[in-house]
Amino acid sequence: MPQTITSLRKRAISVLTAAGITDPEVDADLLIGHVLGQSRGEVQAGSFLNRPVSQADAATIIALLARRSGREPLQHITGRAPFRSLSLNVGPGVFVPRPETEQVAQFAIDALRSMPDPEPIGIDLGTGSGAIALALATEVPHARIFAIENSPEAFPWTTRNFDEIGAANATLAFGDLADAFVELDGTVAVVISNPPYIPADAIPRDPEVRLFDPAQALFGGPDGLDVVHSVSATGLRLLRAGGVLVIEHGELQGAAIRQLLAADGWRAPATHRDYTSRDRATTALHP
Ligand code: GLN
Repeated sequence: MPQTITSLRKRAISVLTAAGITDPEVDADLLIGHVLGQSRGEVQAGSFLNRPVSQADAATIIALLARRSGREPLQHITGRAPFRSLSLNVGPGVFVPRPETEQVAQFAIDALRSMPDPEPIGIDLGTGSGAIALALATEVPHARIFAIENSPEAFPWTTRNFDEIGAANATLAFGDLADAFVELDGTVAVVISNPPYIPADAIPRDPEVRLFDPAQALFGGPDGLDVVHSVSATGLRLLRAGGVLVIEHGELQGAAIRQLLAADGWRAPATHRDYTSRDRATTALHP
């Protein structure tokens, strides 16, 4: 019997459910759509209409389903991760951008837009795939954005995304955030970072994270705050008076980060929740 979108979709949903995938229908639609070059809506319509699928495409879909059942991230299989208006290249070696970080980026976008500077400078420390930096550069075109990444495994992905998106107002550097962009000291309007912040002994629940995200992008020392300390010090050096710092963090770290920032001399540290009501980001003003 020839395969149809309907039969493949049914099979995919049952295989992915058995593998413990949280939203099996979403992953089924996106995997099938990836192979057929279709959107989620087109796959669902094709399933409704019982459209045939070639033997070759059906075989590819089944092979990709096996990979996803092994909990390889969907984004590694498709090679793409959506972030705000962007579609980023991702794969082994680079952290897959998360939806909650889209909301964290909004704080930096709003801050850049509210600055009186004709050409406000924004900096993304530890940019990974380049998600935050490229969102800032494309959504605030009058800003100048700088980004730095220190992982040799992640950096080829960063470069590829910067090249592909081609934002003329975005500059990428390889290196440690501690001594990033000294030539911009005291001139920057907004510094943002999604640093590694998971405590060293905490084990991420999802196999996609535990087995496929680079440890360097996840773990931030005994209390998870090692890199946050460094982001605070670098932010104090880079920002001008009244400049805004935005840091993503774990849901239990808001109080500790407010305290850390206050001790470093920041003004008005404030913690913000994500759409699931979890503490997710803290902002502060340069003294
Ligand atoms: N939010 C990330 C996760 O879900 C943690 C990444 C980080 O430390 N920046 O695993």
